[in-house]
Amino acid sequence: MDAIVVRDLRRAYGPVRAVDGIGFTVAAGEVFALLGPNGAGKTTTVEILEGYRRRDSGEVRVLGFDPDTGGREFRERIGIVLQTAGFEEEFTVRELLRLQASLYPRRHDPDELIDLVELGAKRTSRVKELSGGQRRRLDLALGLVGAPDLLFLDEPTTGFDPAARHRAWQLIGRLRQLGTTVLLTTHYLEEAQELADRVAVLRSGRLIAIGTPDELRAGGRLPGTITFRLPPATTVADLPALTGEARADDGTVVVDTRHTVSDTWQLTDWALAAGFELADFAVTQPTLEAAYLALTGEAGREQ
Ligand code: ATP
Repeated sequence: MDAIVVRDLRRAYGPVRAVDGIGFTVAAGEVFALLGPNGAGKTTTVEILEGYRRRDSGEVRVLGFDPDTGGREFRERIGIVLQTAGFEEEFTVRELLRLQASLYPRRHDPDELIDLVELGAKRTSRVKELSGGQRRRLDLALGLVGAPDLLFLDEPTTGFDPAARHRAWQLIGRLRQLGTTVLLTTHYLEEAQELADRVAVLRSGRLIAIGTPDELRAGGRLPGTITFRLPPATTVADLPALTGEARADDGTVVVDTRHTVSDTWQLTDWALAAGFELADFAVTQPTLEAAYLALTGEAGREQ
């Protein structure tokens, strides 16, 4: 069964069409990322799916429920990890998780969850003593404690240092093994690439792309890049004919090409015949971020 079904969903705030006729489905067990620039309609969409905001029109089924009318039975089966959850600062980590667990008929063991999010050393620390990253991990544990079938993760690694981010990714990856469906919103394209089975890109309330990260990268029709150091006593004019355009930048050749394989073959064949080393030779495919920026028209815009 699909965990989420959305058809022709609409929601306006006065004249602003925050969500303007979008549709998608999320399969059970899938990690699905919603991407889009600020104001694209992500939060509105997620809040409608969570049952915290009403839609103007359209069909929405989440775990088989209409979130508007699903009531307690629905709420017990979803977990929500907010970007900034309000905490009871005086509670300890374990107390807070036990309290939250008591609200759910099904639950994960709070102590196991504390270990899962690597807060074992902080089990009996008060919430007010946690660092920002530790709080975010506690947020995650709180979202999971009711053993949800579907977890809403809103920018789960904002404010994390790189090592903490990678650990969080591993952790979210483990949720997949529990069979938890995850709806993720993030501004980190690398995060979507790492975690999501599929991504949907929203812009101005409309869905402008949907697919696996690889499909989006390929669909962006962006060139790949071949780079290497120019061999001594050669110029760009000496290079063999390529489908892509080659330019030299301070002794490094950059070739933007949609045919990375054939251009690589031309270049290596040329170098082998002439006995050249192509120092620092590298081929890179377009990233999800590049495809996203091209799709949303944000490329080259001042951030
Ligand atoms: P961000 O990445 O900045 O969180 P978002 O993609 O989540 O953005 P939304 O918060 O859903 O976008 O907002 C979509 C549009 O709806 C924006 O133009 C926003 O200004 C508007 N909007 C959102 N909430 C309200 C509200 N309560 N009242 C009026 N307008 C709103």
